[in-house]
Amino acid sequence: NYLIQIEDIGRKYIIGAEEIHALKSVSLNIRKGEFVALMGPSGSGKSTLMNILGCLDTPSKGQYILNGINVSDMSENDLAEVRNKEIGFVFQTFNLLPKSTALENVALPLIYAGFNKKVREERAHKALENVGLGNRVDHKPNELSGGQRQRVAVARALINNPSIILADEPTGNLDTKTSIEIMGLMEDIHAKGNTIILVTHEEDIAQHAHRIVRMRDGLIEDDYPNPDIKSVL
Ligand code: ADP
Ligand code: ADP
Repeated sequence: NYLIQIEDIGRKYIIGAEEIHALKSVSLNIRKGEFVALMGPSGSGKSTLMNILGCLDTPSKGQYILNGINVSDMSENDLAEVRNKEIGFVFQTFNLLPKSTALENVALPLIYAGFNKKVREERAHKALENVGLGNRVDHKPNELSGGQRQRVAVARALINNPSIILADEPTGNLDTKTSIEIMGLMEDIHAKGNTIILVTHEEDIAQHAHRIVRMRDGLIEDDYPNPDIKSVL
């Protein structure tokens, strides 16, 4: 019984007369509550796979079932709806609205979900407290440190209780100490039962995950439990 079921998916890009097989054949099953690090050299297909996992793109072949929903060949509109409900994104560059406060940034997904202002503000406040930023709700991104910005982004990713958190190099713009803090936060989130898929180039960062998936040339070349973590799964 899997949250994510990917069966022999491929994704090709056609540029002029050339076909680029970014994903050749990828099969991957992920259970609710797993913490997976996705690794591999540049060009191996990580971003392409993350885009499909996050319902930003669909495969050229094969099947993707997310939380029981077959999203393999959905329309853009249906895909956007699934994405808003099921996926929380965390990016390397934080992707916060620069003119909005921390509270407004975190509350944003709740506007699309149709909650009224009072509920949005209460929930966003709580979410910021949960990431240790209860005293920074009215700060704008440029009034926050990199680590604090990423905490805001994590709070925003979690606000709709998504079924998966997709984090693409979340520590890529942070110094070592702050990276360790953010990974500590990811571990806390995982411990609360959330499912996390994290792309990273750094072995130290991947060590926080419970399962390591390595890609190469559009294929999964390795997939194993992190031997350094006593998995509770
Ligand atoms: P990474 O995910 O490793 O940080 P990127 O996803 O930015 O790196 O790019 C990985 C590779 O994919 C690069 O070789 C880049 O040139 C290529 N790439 C990314 N987007 C496109 C695109 N829209 N068109 C062509 N090539 C692309
Ligand atoms: P990674 O994230 O591991 O760096 P990508 O998924 O970005 O790998 O890229 C896999 C392959 O697909 C690369 O050869 C890249 O150049 C190509 N690619 C990625 N995105 C595009 C795109 N939008 N158009 C054309 N080629 C792309």
